[in-house]
Formats: sequence, structure tokens, C-alpha cells
Amino acid sequence: MQQDLLLTPIEYLKGVGPNRGELLRKELGIYKYQDLINFYPNRYIDRTRYYKINELQNNAAEVQLIGKIINIKTVEFAKGKKRLVATFTDATGQMELVWFQGQKWIRESLQLNVPIVIFGKCTSFNGLFNMAHPEIELLTEHEQSLRSAMQPVYPSTETLTNRGISNRVINKLMQQLFLETQALFSETLPVYLIEELKLISKKAALFNIHFPKSADALARAQFRLKFEELFFIQLQLITKNLIRKHKIKGHPFEKVGNHFTDFFNNHLPFELTGAQKRVLKEIRNDMGNPAQMNRLLQGDVGSGKTIVALMSMLLALDNGFQSCLMAPTEILANQHYIGLSELAKDLSINIRILTGSTKTAQRKIIHEELENGTLHILIGTHALLEDKVKFQNLGLAIIDEQHRFGVEQRSKLWKKNTIPPHVLVMTATPIPRTLAMSLYGDLDISVIDELPPGRKPIQTVHRFDSNRLKVWKFIRDEIAKGRQIYIVYPLIQESEKMDFKDLMDGYESISRDFPLPQYAVSILHGKMKPADKDAEMKRFADGKTNIMVATTVIEVGVNIPNASVMIIESAERFGLSQLHQLRGRVGRGAEQSYCIMMTSHKLSNDSKTRMETMVRTNDGFEIAEVDLKLRGPGDLMGTQQSGVLNLQIADIVRDRDILQLARNHAVIILKEDAPLLKPEHTTLRAVFIELSKKKNIWNYIS
Ligand code: ADP
Ligand code: MG
Repeated sequence: MQQDLLLTPIEYLKGVGPNRGELLRKELGIYKYQDLINFYPNRYIDRTRYYKINELQNNAAEVQLIGKIINIKTVEFAKGKKRLVATFTDATGQMELVWFQGQKWIRESLQLNVPIVIFGKCTSFNGLFNMAHPEIELLTEHEQSLRSAMQPVYPSTETLTNRGISNRVINKLMQQLFLETQALFSETLPVYLIEELKLISKKAALFNIHFPKSADALARAQFRLKFEELFFIQLQLITKNLIRKHKIKGHPFEKVGNHFTDFFNNHLPFELTGAQKRVLKEIRNDMGNPAQMNRLLQGDVGSGKTIVALMSMLLALDNGFQSCLMAPTEILANQHYIGLSELAKDLSINIRILTGSTKTAQRKIIHEELENGTLHILIGTHALLEDKVKFQNLGLAIIDEQHRFGVEQRSKLWKKNTIPPHVLVMTATPIPRTLAMSLYGDLDISVIDELPPGRKPIQTVHRFDSNRLKVWKFIRDEIAKGRQIYIVYPLIQESEKMDFKDLMDGYESISRDFPLPQYAVSILHGKMKPADKDAEMKRFADGKTNIMVATTVIEVGVNIPNASVMIIESAERFGLSQLHQLRGRVGRGAEQSYCIMMTSHKLSNDSKTRMETMVRTNDGFEIAEVDLKLRGPGDLMGTQQSGVLNLQIADIVRDRDILQLARNHAVIILKEDAPLLKPEHTTLRAVFIELSKKKNIWNYIS
């Protein structure tokens, strides 16, 4: 019965009616009683705090002060226009209270030299603070009044404000709603969970989110509602994952066969790190099951994902299946091809590469070998997705740097197969784990959180352009030691022309400062033909040039161990994750490596934070955390369209701990009772089904 009441159309609420009902629907998406209850304030004014006049700052939010009025006067400030001005004092100073309207009535009601509480917004004029149209209350009355200490402020729109639906009106409607429904909101979480986590009831939470009795009560209400929101999302994500594991068949790779064993025993070029071993085990477990693997492999740049990829592909091969590895750019595909071929050189397996620039004759061979099954591993770019590319039996698809491939493209790879291949998505974008769980909730996650041994941490410094001469000297010294240098320029879409000019100017001046025949300088940018890019890259990789001047095309994946210095020009124009990716291009060999970020003297606060963070730490996850704080998750690569920000009350970044807690409990519950059929889960199941009916909840998912 309560439920029915909550479904009442909003215009039936006393004080709404057809006109306001229309506005509430249009402007705020409030259709029913229930929508209004779930319309939460986006901030609260703290009326537990009393400011002193000498603590006031300009344009602060609403503040309240205790003091008294010692003088009242009327001031004519333009012809025929008057304002009422009262002098207000407390122990720390003086300010003015100002009225433009209702002056006569106000003047009569103001009392001199009586303690009062004033409340409103302060501005400063000529060094004197003033408050226009303050709310005024006698201190004695104020102390007795039952007002809630934290005053809610609801989100609003211009139209609403113009049409008189102020915050006060919303507040009144909310009161009316609680009156009509008698706040009989039913509980949505299992009793045992509420007890275990010491949550307040749903009813108390809703009451306190709209009418907080104290800052503490508000905090508990927020915690309870955030937990609930994140908990149900996790419940859905994990359920989806479980269903996939049950319903979507995959090829079970049961054997660990010759190729894998031979490679592991005889051809490992180095000992695997603990993290690599663990991750491999996770992948093997997954692929050993008759359900499709969908796994995200996260590992900071240089953490050694390539060998994990190869060994996973060897497992596929041992079970009679082909594999492919798809990279976002031709350069990267090439690097993978070279790297994997090198690793597998002593195994008798057939690896080929297919990109946009693969010649027709070569393509023909690839197509044939793919279909007759003699090609074991195919590496490439988007070219792998073309219709003509038909595998005999694709068992494993590895996708590098997934944020550049859409979900649709991912599935294109296995449209042709009845049983989809296992999918391993590799990314170096260090997404904090909790966030990853929400963004890629339908993927399982493996993390390589350990760098290969013996790596010297890259030394990072920030230098101003005015110190360029010293930097150049440093480069000469490094080159003299046989090292190679990257110098990277920004390339941002909007100002591509100017960036290109910067790059070319830079290249010219560097070529002048590092002249032939003593030095050789390479250049690499997006406007070059793929073949030219590759040729230039090869020259640098072979040590024929000392310096590589490039745009961010080298950002991902490029692996040249002898390059030990990364110079980033106009570093203030790069985001943190990009800076970190660029830095990851060095530090790949045994030598001490350096990253030098060059900037002008003019730096915004955010830029300064970015520089300081880079200098302070090499830890990709720590950097990602700072990045999230600076930018918010909406800007995180690949998450723009995820809709993940449509949360009602929780904030994925700030409420990560609650997210983790919610996820843990969702996991436990589903482990014991996935269909939610136990009696103690009756409510949970009902809410879950109700939520699942709303399509928008599912929008979170990829
Ligand atoms: P990424 O995760 O960035 O793709 P790579 O797979 O390219 O990293 O590995 C980076 C470098 O580290 C390569 O030169 C690789 O040979 C080396 N490497 C990877 N794993 C190990 C290991 N366990 N011990 C020593 N070196 C390793
Ligand atoms: Mg790599």
C-alpha cells in the first residue's frame, strides 16, 4: 500500500498542482512522489557554525553571525532611490546590513542593542563587509527554535528559479510529502547487513538527508544511502558477470602442452616476477573453464605484459587454437610483432602481422594460412577486424590498450565464431582498482603490480625553459655515454597546426644544436606515412640516431631499452596519465634513466600539482589517484560515455571506500545465495528486480 502511495503522480501532492507538476517533470525529472523523495540536496548550509566578522571572506556561501545592531539609517544612493543600512557589530568588528525593499516595515521591526543572529551572503564593498536582506532572529528565539542545523540546498535550474520554485518551495513540498506519506518508507537492505554495518534505517536516512538533525545524523544518512546505491550497482554487475560465466560458453583450454612447457622450461629470457606468475595463473584458470574469459590485465608501463600475452597465446596453441593480438597503432603492432617473434624465436610457431600497409601478396598468404589453420598467432591493427580476415579457430583475442577500441569492435572479433574466443584486454592506464571494478564491472581484473627486478627508478625533474642550456649539456653527456634521447612535443587536436609548427621549429633548432656528423636526429609525427614512421623508428631503435624528436605518437608501448632520457616539452600541456605514459618509454634498460619536464614559468595550480606529482612518484596508481582528484572520473580515458557519473548520491572517486565495502558485501551475498532466494533476501530480491527493470541502471555497464 505504501508502495502505491509513492507512485502517486507528483501534481497530486498538496502545493504542486498541474503547473508546478509540469515544471518538476520537465526540469527535474520528478514524476512521482518517489522521485521527489529521491531528489537529494547537493549541499547543506551549516547552521551549526557561527562566524565572526573578522573571519568573513568575500563571496563566501551563506554564513551566520551573532552580534547586535547599533545604528540604523536611510541612505539615498541614486536620485529617489534609497536603501536602509544598519551597522552590525560583534567583538571582532563592524559590518553593514542592507535592505532595498520593505524598508519601512523592516526599520520598525529592527531593535537596537539586542543580541541577534543574522544569516545571509556576504560581499565586501570598499573594505567593509555587507549582507543584503539578511534573515534576522533574536538570539533568545534562535536558541529555542527547532530548525534543523544543516539546511539542505537542492539542485535547481534557471527556469525553476524564475518560476518561483525556490529552495524554500522544494523544502516545503518535501515536508508535505513526508507528512502525506508519514515517512513509511520500506527497508531495502537485509536486516543482518544493517546490523553488521551499523547502518541507519532507510526511513531515518531519507528523513535526515532532507531534514538533518545534526551534522552527524547527516553523515550517517549519506553513508547509508551511498552504500545502498553502490551496493545495488555492484549486485547487478556481479550478477551479470556470473550469468556470463554460466551462459556464454568458451573453449576450455585444458591442456598445458608442449609449446608452453618448452618455452617455460627452456626459453624464458628472464625469471618471471611474482606478479607475472600470479596473473598467468589467473588467466590459465579462466581459460581452463568452459566459460568465456573476459579479463582486464592492468600493468603499469614496463611491468612486462608482453610475455604474459605470449604465454597465454601458447596455451591456446597447445589446445589447438589460434590467437590474435590487436594494437591501436601500426607502430605498436610492429613492436609487438618484433617483440613476440624475438621471444618465440626458438619455438616452431608461425607468427604474422597484418596492418593497413600489409601488401596484397602478403595478405593473401595470411588469409590462406588463417583459414587452413597453419597461422598460429596474428598480430595487427584494426585491419584484423575486416570481413576478409577469417580464423579457422580463434581461441584467444588479446587487445592492447583497450580504451581505443570500442566494445562493439571487441565483439566484432568473434561475431564469426559460434563460441567466442577468450578475451584479454591489456591496459597500462592505471585505473585505481575500485574504480576499474565499477567501470569494467563485467570484466575480471588481473593486476601486475610489480616491476621486473633491477630497474632503477626513473629520476624525474622539472626544469624551466630558461634552463635549456643546462638540459642540452646534460643530453650531450648522456649521448657521450652511448644513450639515446626522446624529445616529445604536445600535439593536441584543436591547435594541430600550431603544434606542428612548434614541433618543426623544435626539430630545426635541435638539429642545429646537435649537428651532423657528430649527432643524428630522428623525427616522428602523425602526418608521416606509416612506412616512413616505421623506417624512422627503426633507425632510432637500431641506434643510428641519437635523438628522437616526436609527438605523442610514441606515447604507448614503444620499447627501446637504450633510450634513457625523456624530455617533455611544454609539459604543462599534458595530462598526468599522459606524462606518466611518456615517462614509461624510458627506464627499460639497465641504465639510470631520466625524465625532464620542461615548462614556462607561468603555471596554473593544477599544472604545478602535476609537475610535483611526477617528480615525487613513479607509481602509476598513485598518479592515477591524483589525476582523478584533479580531473574527476568523467575525464578518465575511456570513461566519458560510461554514464558512470549518473549516480544519485555516491561519488565514485570520493566514496571509493564505500564502494569497496559495498562490493565486498555484494560478493559475499551472491556467493552464498546468487538467486537471492533465501528468506532473509526477500526484500533484496524485490528491490533488485525492481531496479533491473529500469533500463538506466544497466547503462553503467560498458
Ligand atoms: P609493458 O607491460 O609495458 O608492455 P613489456 O612487456 O614491454 O612491458 O616489458 C618491458 C621490458 O621489461 C621489456 O624489455 C621486457 O623484456 C622486460 N621484462 C619483462 N618482464 C621481465 C622480467 N620478469 N624480468 C626482467 N625483465 C622483464
Ligand atoms: Mg606493452
